[in-house]
Amino acid sequence: MTGVPKTLPDMTFEPVPDEFLLAGNWKHGAGPATSVIDPATGSELQRVGHAGVEDVDAAVRAGAAAAADPAWRGLLPHQRATYLHRIGAAIEGAAPRLALLQSYNTGKTLTETSALVTSAANTFRYFAAVLETSDEDLTTPRGPYLTMSVHEPIGVVGAITPWNSPIASDAQKMAPALAAGNAVVLKPAEWTPLVSLALARIIDETGLPPGLLSVLPGRGSVVGDAIVRHPGVGKVSFTGGTTTGRTLAHAAAEKLMPVSLELGGKSPTIVLADADVEAAVNGVLYGIFSSSGQSCIAGSRLFVDAGIYEEFLDRLVARTQALRVGPGREPGVQVGPLVHHRHRDAVARHVELARAEGGRIRCGGSVPDDPRLAEGAYYLPTVIDGLANDARVCQEEIFGPVLVALPFHGEADLIAQANDTVYGLAAGIWTRDYRRAWRLARALHTGTVWINTYKQFSISTPFGGVKESGLSVEKGRTGIRAYSRQKSIYLGMDEAPIAWAES
Ligand code: NAD
Repeated sequence: MTGVPKTLPDMTFEPVPDEFLLAGNWKHGAGPATSVIDPATGSELQRVGHAGVEDVDAAVRAGAAAAADPAWRGLLPHQRATYLHRIGAAIEGAAPRLALLQSYNTGKTLTETSALVTSAANTFRYFAAVLETSDEDLTTPRGPYLTMSVHEPIGVVGAITPWNSPIASDAQKMAPALAAGNAVVLKPAEWTPLVSLALARIIDETGLPPGLLSVLPGRGSVVGDAIVRHPGVGKVSFTGGTTTGRTLAHAAAEKLMPVSLELGGKSPTIVLADADVEAAVNGVLYGIFSSSGQSCIAGSRLFVDAGIYEEFLDRLVARTQALRVGPGREPGVQVGPLVHHRHRDAVARHVELARAEGGRIRCGGSVPDDPRLAEGAYYLPTVIDGLANDARVCQEEIFGPVLVALPFHGEADLIAQANDTVYGLAAGIWTRDYRRAWRLARALHTGTVWINTYKQFSISTPFGGVKESGLSVEKGRTGIRAYSRQKSIYLGMDEAPIAWAES
């Protein structure tokens, strides 16, 4: 075999110092500690002390001062961009370590975590480029004045992220917020603080002025809530579950603060009768089972034309059973463990619910019986059918390796079923007929549609959900604007005084 290294790289877990970044200083958490586990084995990796509400207050005050300091606020866009370029390069320099750390903490395969680290580095580079090339608007004058619309920093931005892809979601918020001239106070998820703490250390070492970044691990209901409610925080960007997003939006409404919400999904993947079946099977498998289904955009509802339904399902089930389940750090593994045993148990409860509702478990539906995997948070890739679209497992986000399949009869039935969900994050269509794909893509109520591909991401393409999947978009050139305040300026050009006031 070619391309296989003779010796495997060092896979030893290196603990992250149990200190968090509070405005340029490293501090031990005085609050309760989280036991961070390796979901591949169930063993404790290390403990991480939580920040407290007083740390949030200190971080926000320091952030406000740093954001207002002319040393940051006065920088021209191309000067601010150099900090982002430096951060992008530093992430890339630490990529193998960060990928391994994230694989230990989340259970994801090294292939997946390496891609996420690369994406984080590229996110900083992309927003540096956006910053350098964004123009302010000179608007068309409608009187004797010059009119323009400029974008200014908000001040302190709160960023709250989930456990499934920590480094990518952290970067997706930090990079545009810093690019727009703000300070950031970030709270990672309880189960996965390690890579965010490592990222904070890397960014701190690049010489970003102190105060512009704080990374505070802790409970959502304590640290997260304190960030949202703090009067000094001018915007919160949140990625996580829809229920939490709604709670947060209520708190934000009290202070009339803008929020960006990237929430849950139950995305339909559609296979039309003329699809390239091999490509569609591969796409469906990747769409639901990569990252063990712990992806907001997982294609978790499969709609197949009734004419090819049984044949397609048989093929899909056979290929699902052949997926390699195991530790994410083992070469060749496709499906790693779930992030935590508690989450694995919640996924298992959903499958039990499907059984109780009369669903057919076509494959999976249990933990693996391989004794090597007994202590880890594994769950077998599962395909369920025989349920109507209004069954709870067809409507609720499971966030695990569980696919529900349904046949459809004609385009009207398909569109009605696919849109019959509270979510609206993404959808996939497999067909050779691009006119039909276009028509369907326009009829689906989702933020993203993939045609003959799935779960592809590009930082230059805006991403966001509709309905209960979210509010506003991240990424793309306009992603930076979500962290700015717009101001209009009129420059009077008339030599004569305003006539109204003449006596
Ligand atoms: P979660 O909502 O439980 O937690 C997300 C974050 O919010 C965590 O950091 C948590 O500590 C914090 N939090 C919890 N309660 C809070 C409160 N009252 N105030 C402030 N912060 C609070 O989500 P999760 O279980 O960590 O992640 C899984 C969810 O995230 C899934 O629903 C998934 O679809 C969603 N997600 C969405 C996207 C997207 O881009 N749309 C991306 C990834 C994940």
